[in-house]
Amino acid sequence: MTTATRIFNFSAGPAVLPPPVLQEAQRDLLALPGVGMSIMEISHRSKPFEDLLNKAVEDIRALANIPANYKILMLQGGASLQFSMVPMNLLTPGATADYIDTGSWADKAIKEARRVGTVNVTGSTKADNYSRIPAASEISLTPGAAYVHTTTNNTIEGTQWSGLPAGAGDAPIVADTSSDMFHAPIDVSKFGLIYAGAQKNLGPSGVTLVIIREDLLARSQASLPTMLNYKVHVENDSLYNTPNTFGIYILGLTMKWLRGLGGLEAIGELNRRKAGKLYTEIDRTGFYRGTAQKESRSLMNVTFRLPSEDLEKQFVKESTAAGLDGLKGHRSVGGMRASIYNAFPEEGIDALVAFMREFERTRG
Ligand SMILES: *Cc1c(COP(=O)(O)O)cnc(C)c1O
Repeated sequence: MTTATRIFNFSAGPAVLPPPVLQEAQRDLLALPGVGMSIMEISHRSKPFEDLLNKAVEDIRALANIPANYKILMLQGGASLQFSMVPMNLLTPGATADYIDTGSWADKAIKEARRVGTVNVTGSTKADNYSRIPAASEISLTPGAAYVHTTTNNTIEGTQWSGLPAGAGDAPIVADTSSDMFHAPIDVSKFGLIYAGAQKNLGPSGVTLVIIREDLLARSQASLPTMLNYKVHVENDSLYNTPNTFGIYILGLTMKWLRGLGGLEAIGELNRRKAGKLYTEIDRTGFYRGTAQKESRSLMNVTFRLPSEDLEKQFVKESTAAGLDGLKGHRSVGGMRASIYNAFPEEGIDALVAFMREFERTRG
């Protein structure tokens, strides 16, 4: 199969994967070279699988130069389980966790944290339909907070932080990076914990990447349910129980692909170029209208509206027919959303821009 026979997939997640990754998986599906069985048929305790897991972890560490005092885990349960695991492990009794409320996913994280302990919600941009990232002056953090939780990219609303919340002091920053992990260089040493469901920018669904600073493991109480305890997963190198072996394999291939492309600097440049083309088209005449405020625009999820809901319906229908799939925005926002993660090809951006021009020319 070649890329020519694939349509352009703008899905928000699970999302597009790199064709070389799919091709390698297809080639080795019946029998992994040197193993003679498929990845799905071998023990997670076998040397071939352990090698594969170790290689994926090594590649992740190399991609972002992750310091040795950070542990890298591959868990299950999605980013949504991290909404619970983070407070269960890190929100120490009597302490407060700060949560910055920048979108629907941040809101879900807040709701779960509240089941566990005391939460201070700050910097909420809900009154502006989450169309922007809050200014530093809008964020008031708790002195001595257990941690500060942030969502680096707001998948549904199409906004993205360009830096980190200021003023966290000694409080570790915990980041949900599900929809922009490895979209550009990331300085892991600035975070206490990073988590990401893999299905947007890292691989397939069913794997969650968690990167945790070693000293924070001291907070995980032995009374926690075993499977929800970070310390247990670290002590067992993500192999306390059977992990998603196939998912980790595909994630590993995706990390190899990313390194081959030149790593995070190279992908960052490509992502800026891809998003730039699309925003330029959105801003060209006023027919299209970006829903995120300009300084908060996401490089990963580009959200925009048309002059009427009727035109939006036509746009979805005709773009789908033209092989541009998945452009309908999330139901809570409406309009369009083009998710253009790392693996989304630049030709697909060019095709969408051409489609938008033609649509405006005939309907504008
Ligand atoms: C998709 C998404 C989630 C939910 O991920 P699951 O793996 O489905 O639980 C959480 N946070 C963000 C920012 C997301 O984009």
